[in-house]
Amino acid sequence: MKVARPEIRSFQPPVRTLMGPGPSDVPPRVLSAMARPTVGHLDPAFVGMMDELKSLLRYAFQTENELTFPVSAPGSVGMETCFVNLVSPGDKVIVCINGVFGQRMAENVRRAGGVLVIVEDPWGAPVDPAKVEEAFAANPDAALFAFVHAETSTGALSDAATLAAIARRYGALTIMDCVTSLGGVPVLLDAWGIDAAYSGSQKCLSSTPGLSPVSFSPAAVERIRARKTPCPSWFQDLSLVLGYWSGAKRTYHHTAPVNPLYGLHESLVMLAEEGLEAAWQRHRDNHLQLRAGLEALGLNFVVREDARLPQLNTVWVPEGIDEAAARTRLLQEFGLEIGAGLGVLAGKVWRIGLMGHSSRQANIALCLAALKTVIQR
Ligand SMILES: *Cc1c(COP(=O)(O)O)cnc(C)c1O
Repeated sequence: MKVARPEIRSFQPPVRTLMGPGPSDVPPRVLSAMARPTVGHLDPAFVGMMDELKSLLRYAFQTENELTFPVSAPGSVGMETCFVNLVSPGDKVIVCINGVFGQRMAENVRRAGGVLVIVEDPWGAPVDPAKVEEAFAANPDAALFAFVHAETSTGALSDAATLAAIARRYGALTIMDCVTSLGGVPVLLDAWGIDAAYSGSQKCLSSTPGLSPVSFSPAAVERIRARKTPCPSWFQDLSLVLGYWSGAKRTYHHTAPVNPLYGLHESLVMLAEEGLEAAWQRHRDNHLQLRAGLEALGLNFVVREDARLPQLNTVWVPEGIDEAAARTRLLQEFGLEIGAGLGVLAGKVWRIGLMGHSSRQANIALCLAALKTVIQR
């Protein structure tokens, strides 16, 4: 017999302030909702909560889409769910790349057997609509168009309404990553004509990581129904998942993460209580306040002013500062987590998140005071 002798008898996480690219601080109210007793995933009380969760998500996404629910997995699986269901082998897909998550979308298209057309923009810049127009003019047969609304690797916000309108003129369906945008800046699926969108529970919704809200328009559902080959992923095949998430009689597909769904429900109730517009305004106001403080410390933003995400502030690391050592000090001495650069920005920038519950006065004050100490050592 092997014997297990755990050193950590019961894990007690350190107290942290989360101001990175996600997860964000989770409000005590959400954590306490998650600590309530687990019930069966087909319990009528739970199914009633699931139905309300879907309508709260429709509010967050500003959509009437019937097919709106949280995938039982992190945002990356929400991304895959969109691509494996909508892309059939041979389909032409235009993908915009201006950071890490656009690259991942392109990789999803390759793996789904799609024919990839890439529109590239520099890291830190938003997607350029003129380049998208050119790509469609050269590829009018493209069936799908995909872009990242809020590129968390750089802090750039793209003009979703304009981009989706171009795709619609060419008869293509639009897939939008709104993992970081949902709840932090306007996300208006129906007004913009977005056909498939995925998000994450741990960014501006401030629930725990591990759930990915998704939404599909009637046109996207039609396209999925018309597939000639089955969706290559059994778990993510929407035609199967729906037997659990919709209809009069729910049937077992997989065991839903019951307690994390309590948490997501609670966080969406909090968003509804605050109101979407008030949440967007709070993210904007706090961004302006953080920005003033960062600039007073001599830090410069990577993204041009009109394309900056209020919930993700990317600044250049000043000359002569060891960026990794500075982040270690912030964590050890101040319990503060901020994000490092990714890809081409690795080692060059800090990414400071003001997402969801993390977007508040006390966090801004802590971050500015801690950064000042670390920079001016
Ligand atoms: C965080 C993030 C993802 C991935 O979400 P996970 O929950 O980490 O899988 C995808 N896209 C964007 C823009 C993100 O910020």
